[in-house]
Amino acid sequence: MDTSHKTYALTTLPGDGIGPEVMREALRVVHAVGEVVGYTFTITEALIGGAALDAHDNPFPLETQNTCLAADAVLLGAVGGPKWDHHVGDMRPESGLLALRKLLGTYANLRPVSVPESLASSSPLRSDIVAGTDLLIVRELTGGIYFGEPKNREATEEGEVAYNTMVYSTEEIRRITRIAMQWARKRKNKLTLVDKANVLVASQLWRDVVRKMHKEEYSDVELDVLYVDNAAMQLVLAPSQFDVIVTSNLFGDILSDLAATLPGSLGMLPSASLGGRTGLFEPVHGSAPDIAGQGKANPLAMILSASMMLDALGRSDAATVVRNAVQRVLDEGYRTGDMWKEGCTLCSTEEIGKRVTQYAVEEIGSLAA
Ligand code: NAD
Repeated sequence: MDTSHKTYALTTLPGDGIGPEVMREALRVVHAVGEVVGYTFTITEALIGGAALDAHDNPFPLETQNTCLAADAVLLGAVGGPKWDHHVGDMRPESGLLALRKLLGTYANLRPVSVPESLASSSPLRSDIVAGTDLLIVRELTGGIYFGEPKNREATEEGEVAYNTMVYSTEEIRRITRIAMQWARKRKNKLTLVDKANVLVASQLWRDVVRKMHKEEYSDVELDVLYVDNAAMQLVLAPSQFDVIVTSNLFGDILSDLAATLPGSLGMLPSASLGGRTGLFEPVHGSAPDIAGQGKANPLAMILSASMMLDALGRSDAATVVRNAVQRVLDEGYRTGDMWKEGCTLCSTEEIGKRVTQYAVEEIGSLAA
């Protein structure tokens, strides 16, 4: 266990709806673990989304931008809600989030999806198919067809035409592959490249670059390649075969949402966006206005996002302790309403947060003993 003392500058952006409720529990956990293992966070809380629109008429005020840029990590709750639905364009709460990702230059989006035995029956798929799934999708986030030029809609003599361009440079592929390979090494040492190299020349470059890197720098990692159509099918038929998946922006967008359905609740899915100096860590879910302020939100996605932050800050021991504590809470049947079933104990957001905290601190105690 790494017990070195270090202070990290953390910017928290609780945002809207259930954002502040789940953020409170994530901070409870990381503070408590830090107190025992020796790290501290100096926290600057700032406004984003609807909360920032209310206070400053801007979903991503300059003050928030500056504190994010100065931080070692940014932890975000969620943004948006019906109160701000009449806003359009750059004045929408969600545009603050897109601007934040751009500002931090986070080109790698990491979404782990796991379905432990105790959650398998909550999945829309058969439990024997999903049980034991533990995969990580590494999606390229700032390139590809979403950003490529030229793109346009234009009138022609035959009628309107529209086009986008899928473009990737060797360096864009190399930097995301490096991140994916490093995560594979920390996990089960297997990487699957998902592409469409039978049709797309951009995918053929991905394949060449990834294979070359594998041969020259990462030959210890098992490398597999799959076409995206087959990958979608395999994620439904046999998701537990995957460890780390690396893919482009478009394919990652689609596959990560597909994989997100496996555990049966959005409240379980964390994410990290990395690549710039400062990483951004946020749950996959939105602000859930239907349950906001009622103590019903599942804080585990936010807590697991905080554990990814600990990993990225180099505190992997602490991150593992937090993940183990989440696992124990689930194994013992404690659930918020989104995942509750007969035989489980229904808990509030705070009760789950406190229990994860208790179990994490207990595990550190037992490791030290
Ligand atoms: P949502 O993720 O907020 O909610 C979808 C459903 O899942 C709801 O029934 C909600 O109650 C449930 N849910 C989500 N998170 C939960 C949790 N932690 N615990 C228990 N149940 C949970 O998606 P939506 O309803 O489509 O969007 C609501 C608002 O959030 C919109 O304004 C949308 O734009 C915004 N949004 C923000 C983000 C973000 O901040 N990253 C992502 C998606 C949506």
